[in-house]
Amino acid sequence: MAQSEPFIIRVAVPSPLRRLFDYLVPADLLQSHSPNAVQPGCRVRVPFGRRQLVGLIIETAHSSEFDIAKLKPVGELVDSEPLLPPSLFKLFIWAANYYQHPIGDALFATLPVLLRTGQPLPEPGQPGWQLSHQGLGLGPNSLKQAPKQRALVEFLQTQGAAVLESVLLASFSRPVVRQLEHKGLLESCLIEPQNQAVSTDELLAENSLNLYDSQRLAMDAIQSHGFNCYLLDGVTGSGKTEIYLQSIEKVLRYGRQALVLIPEISLTPQTKKRFRDRFNVPMVTLHSGLSDKQRLVAWNQARSGEASIVLGTRSAIFTALKSPGLIILDEEHDQSYKQQDGFRYSARDLAVIRARQETIPIILGSATPSLESLNNCAMGRYSHLILDSRAGQAQQPDWHLIDLKNESVDSGVATSTLQAIEETLNSNQQVLVFLNRRGYAPALLCHQCGWTADCNQCDARLTVHRARARLICHHCDHQRRIPHHCPSCQSQQLIAAGEGTERSEAFLQQRFPSSKVLRVDRDSTRRKGAMQEVFDTADSGEPCILLGTQMLAKGHHFPNVTLVAVLDADSGLFSPDFRGHERTGQLLTQVAGRSGRGTARGRVLIQTHQPQHPLLQILMNEGYGQFAKKLLSERQLHQLPPFRHLVVIRAESNRAELAEAFLRQARRLAETIAVPSTSLAYLGPLPAMLEKRGGRYRYLLQIDADHRQSLHGLLSQLAGQLESQPEGRSIRWSIDVDPQEL
Ligand code: ADP
Ligand code: ZN
Ligand code: ZN
Repeated sequence: MAQSEPFIIRVAVPSPLRRLFDYLVPADLLQSHSPNAVQPGCRVRVPFGRRQLVGLIIETAHSSEFDIAKLKPVGELVDSEPLLPPSLFKLFIWAANYYQHPIGDALFATLPVLLRTGQPLPEPGQPGWQLSHQGLGLGPNSLKQAPKQRALVEFLQTQGAAVLESVLLASFSRPVVRQLEHKGLLESCLIEPQNQAVSTDELLAENSLNLYDSQRLAMDAIQSHGFNCYLLDGVTGSGKTEIYLQSIEKVLRYGRQALVLIPEISLTPQTKKRFRDRFNVPMVTLHSGLSDKQRLVAWNQARSGEASIVLGTRSAIFTALKSPGLIILDEEHDQSYKQQDGFRYSARDLAVIRARQETIPIILGSATPSLESLNNCAMGRYSHLILDSRAGQAQQPDWHLIDLKNESVDSGVATSTLQAIEETLNSNQQVLVFLNRRGYAPALLCHQCGWTADCNQCDARLTVHRARARLICHHCDHQRRIPHHCPSCQSQQLIAAGEGTERSEAFLQQRFPSSKVLRVDRDSTRRKGAMQEVFDTADSGEPCILLGTQMLAKGHHFPNVTLVAVLDADSGLFSPDFRGHERTGQLLTQVAGRSGRGTARGRVLIQTHQPQHPLLQILMNEGYGQFAKKLLSERQLHQLPPFRHLVVIRAESNRAELAEAFLRQARRLAETIAVPSTSLAYLGPLPAMLEKRGGRYRYLLQIDADHRQSLHGLLSQLAGQLESQPEGRSIRWSIDVDPQEL
């Protein structure tokens, strides 16, 4: 590089603007740092307006389209080498481009918070505890009054130092650790990573299972090298997890890392435990319950290669990995993989892109694959691996539809359902009751005049929560007291109409007073450890009723449940969303799959007013696979995704006319870039499904096209133009590529 040439970096900063900012790296800074500190992927501190921001270098250059004399100098070079490995860096660029999201915001919204504030990467090693000088010299007779503390001292005397996790695993609690630290007997330390080369005969902590035939076929089809996407389509209990474990084993054997994504960690402690039980290798878990510091440490262990297995939820797809070998994404149909605000990415779709960029295999697993993935199999893009029977002795459950028109129903439970529950409890088995509505009742209405309690911030009814004596909006969380009389006609005849889980719980508890009724929904599990109690009771095998929302349908095994009752199948059949039927079929199949995973055969009762509904019939008689085929052919007929590509531009404002006007303008601009045709069409602006929410009016403009490229060409021009619209500043707007909800 010639001495006089300016060194310019283009920096992404956390800002809503879809552009990079040019800064000058002064010669003295260049000389005092290694060239690695000014590479793409390194952080810098830069002046931005009146603030100093942490940004990330995206490109380096020697010229700028701006006047170089006016460029501001960079304040500080934060990293001594790129924070992000090149492949992850590429993924971010790809994602920002594909989802039309500002790159700076995409980066900083998904990386650990402490990296955003400019904190250095932690030293390698895991935080742990060791005895202080004083602790080491502690005599055998001290701490007699505190046996727990004494025991921990002895534990550390034999172990040397230990990471917090193994201290906790050895049944010492955090308060005991704190008490000893307070007394100066214990101090925190960093524990050097173990020699990474776990020898291959020590890799497994337990033997892997002998695969049965279709598992063997699937396993043989999965290649450990090169990019390939496998859809592991296996009914619940068919042994998908065993395939994950054995595929991971293969890549661990040649020193690579596995990234495993699951929808929700707190609801599936079994999954985490199965990974831990199988392997003797360091594993980190990334989930929302971590502190900022813990998240940074875990992220860095993945980056440095200390962790061989990385288990996480959606945003873990952006974890840096030193030597990735395999990506697994379980429950690939799950909606939680799509971020629904801000940077609206799909972790599933990005996982496939990432695997392709890293040239490694990816396994998408589900008992109810998304129509997108099934279509990708049909098109030959993914390999379709099918496990159609349950592992071991467990059989598929039997489905029965219960026609609510012919039954008397109390608190949402039909007479024959009650009978079945009673029989099951009497034969010492467990029952799972599914109702996807929390609270006591979804509405409060006046028997005299028909008044209903509505949210004044949303187009929605308030839900009655009896235990908390409140009316609560499930869309904006607005709350108020339950009134004693109707505010409109003063009548005292107020009726809580319809059923939520709280009501069914009260009813079932009163009906079966000697059995435990365990409710699982967002209200009941707010308390820490509540979910664990439910799992413990379920695992104990004592006869009980597990009652809850879709939280119960997510992946957990309840081996002692032999009866599943779905109280309301109808609400999902009439959803206006084009994905409504797909979701309903998935949810019903998933809930049903909780049943009979042990040796006893399970039963599934579906309560409905529409027993002849063709979709229920096909789901029940032919199973999810045929059901999905039917839906796919309907999507093709109506030219809906995945046969056509969809983008939604959303706008919201506390004044409806502003949101709508912005989108009308957006449509005008768009139409000058791409004239409407059969291959690229516009719809809207239209009010969103719930037009008013949290006091804001929401509108959307839908654009659909038969080729992704034309849609993307349009969007990349349009996004820039919309950004410079002054009207856009007084409202909130966003672009949602491949929307999951309308
Ligand atoms: P899925 O992930 O498809 O729901 P799992 O992998 O959890 O299914 O398997 C269900 C049950 O069957 C588990 O208890 C598992 O240990 C058992 N299992 C899986 N594969 C085998 C096998 N090959 N032999 C015996 N048991 C198996
Ligand atoms: Zn009234
Ligand atoms: Zn509300």
